[in-house]
Amino acid sequence: MAINTKIAQAPIRELRLDAITGYSGSVHDLAARTAPGCCLSNRERSFAQTSSCSSGCAQTLLSGIVDAAVVNHAPLGCLGDSLYQNIGYHYGQFHRNWPYSNVSMISTNMGESDTVFGGAERLKDGIREAWRRFKPKAIFVTTSCASGIIGDDVQGVIDELKDEIPTPVVPVHCEGFRSRVWATGFDAAFHAILTRIVKPPEQKSKELVNIINFRGSARAYITDLFARVGLKPVFVVPFATVGELERISEAAASLTICGTLGSYLGTALEEEYGVPYVKSTPPHGFAGMDAWLRGLGQAVGKEREIEALIVEEKRAVQDDLAQVRQKLAGATAVIGMGPGFSLSYIRVLEELGIKVLYAASWHYDQHYDHGSQPAITTELATEHQDIPFGIGEQQNFEIANLLKELKPDLYFSRHPGSSVWAAKQGIVTIPVMDEYTAFGYRGLVNFGWRIADALANRRFVNNLAQRVRLPYQQWWFEQNPYHFLSQEEAA
Ligand code: SF4
Repeated sequence: MAINTKIAQAPIRELRLDAITGYSGSVHDLAARTAPGCCLSNRERSFAQTSSCSSGCAQTLLSGIVDAAVVNHAPLGCLGDSLYQNIGYHYGQFHRNWPYSNVSMISTNMGESDTVFGGAERLKDGIREAWRRFKPKAIFVTTSCASGIIGDDVQGVIDELKDEIPTPVVPVHCEGFRSRVWATGFDAAFHAILTRIVKPPEQKSKELVNIINFRGSARAYITDLFARVGLKPVFVVPFATVGELERISEAAASLTICGTLGSYLGTALEEEYGVPYVKSTPPHGFAGMDAWLRGLGQAVGKEREIEALIVEEKRAVQDDLAQVRQKLAGATAVIGMGPGFSLSYIRVLEELGIKVLYAASWHYDQHYDHGSQPAITTELATEHQDIPFGIGEQQNFEIANLLKELKPDLYFSRHPGSSVWAAKQGIVTIPVMDEYTAFGYRGLVNFGWRIADALANRRFVNNLAQRVRLPYQQWWFEQNPYHFLSQEEAA
C-alpha cells in the first residue's frame, strides 16, 4: 500500500502493516505464515499489563529536532516521558560535543473542565507560549487520548493562529488509544514532517545519504566511513534542523538503523521523491553491516568502493572476534526487544557464539511500508536454525515466566522496564539502549567484550535475586508464558 501524504494522519500499523501484538510460535513458523499472500491473525490477551504509548515515540523524534518545539495537548501526565526524552537529548548532545540544553516541550496541562468544555483555549495558550519561549522554526502539536476523545479541533485552532504565529504549526496525531503498537508514533511524527516540513527537491545530491536513527552515537564513525567512498551522512530526525529536514528529499539514498523506525519515512521519500530506500537487514554485526553497506552501494552505484571498504573493515577486527567468541562460547540468552532489533539480535548473538533460547518482540509488522516481509525474517527463516519466538507489547509477566523456565545466562533487552525484572531473577542483563550497540564489525566485537565483562561478575544480580521478592505467585510460573493469549482461529 503506497503511503498517502494527502491525508491528515498516518493509518495505524495494525491496518497498514498488519502489525500484531499477540503470537507464540517460532521464527520459521512466523516467516511462513506472514510470507507474501498470507496474513496472521492477532491473538488477543485476556489479561495485559500496562505498556507504552505512541505519543512517546512521536515526541522522542520531534523533541530532538534542534530548532523546533513540541506542544503536547494533553493532561500533564502524558508528558511524563519528557524526562526520558531529555536524557536522550543530552546523550546525543554528548556525542556531538554540544553544550547541554533541554528539549523544547510544553504541556497544555488539560484538566477536568477542559475535557468537558473543550481544550481549544488551552491549546492556543500552549502554542503562543511555545513561540514566546523558544522562537522555534516549527511547532509540532502532539495529541493525546484526552484531546482525541473529546474531539478537540487541533487543525482548527492552528488555522485560527495562522496570522499570529509566524512559524509552521503542525498537528501530530499520536493519541495512545489509536494503536496498541507504540511504533505507530514514529509514523505520526514522520507523517507530520513529510506533509508539512519536507520540500520537493531543488537539486538532487549525489553524496548526501539520509540515516534514519535516534541519537546517532556512531555519527563520527559513519561520517568517516562514508567519506572514504565519497558520501556524506545526514542524521535524521533527532539532531537535524528544520532546514535540513526540508531538504531530505534531495538525498542520494536513505538508510535506517532499524526497519521498524525507518519504514514510513524511507518508503515515503522513495515513493514521493525517488530517494532509494535501502531495505536490507539492520547493520548489527558482520552480516548486518555487509547487507546494509551493499544495499547502499547498489543504491548509489558504488558497489566496488563498498566491497573494498567491507574487506578493510572486517580484516581489522577478525582476530578480536575470534578471541571474544572463545570467551562467550556456551553462553545462553533470551532476547526481549522491538521487532527491528529482536530478530536482528538473534543473528548478532549467533555471530558471537551465544545460543539464543528464545526471542520475544514487542510487536511485529507482517510487512513493511514498501510491501515486503522484513528482510531479517526472511533470512532467519532460510539460513538459520529455528528459534522459539513470541510477541507481546512488553508484557513483563510473560518474560518473567519465560526466564524462570529457560534460566538463560543472559537477558538482552532494549527497554529498561523489562531488563530490571530479569536482573531481579538473578539473570545477567544487558540493556541495549544505544541503537548503535553491535553496529557493524567493530561494534560487534566491542559488544562481545561488554557481554564477557558482565558475565565475569554475577554478584550484583545474585545479591538482587536473593533479596527481592517477585510479585508473582508460584501458580503463574506453572503456566505457559502465553497462557492469556486467545486460541488461534481455525484456518
Ligand atoms: S496519550 Fe493516552 S496512552 Fe498516551 S500517555 Fe496520554 S493518556 Fe496515556
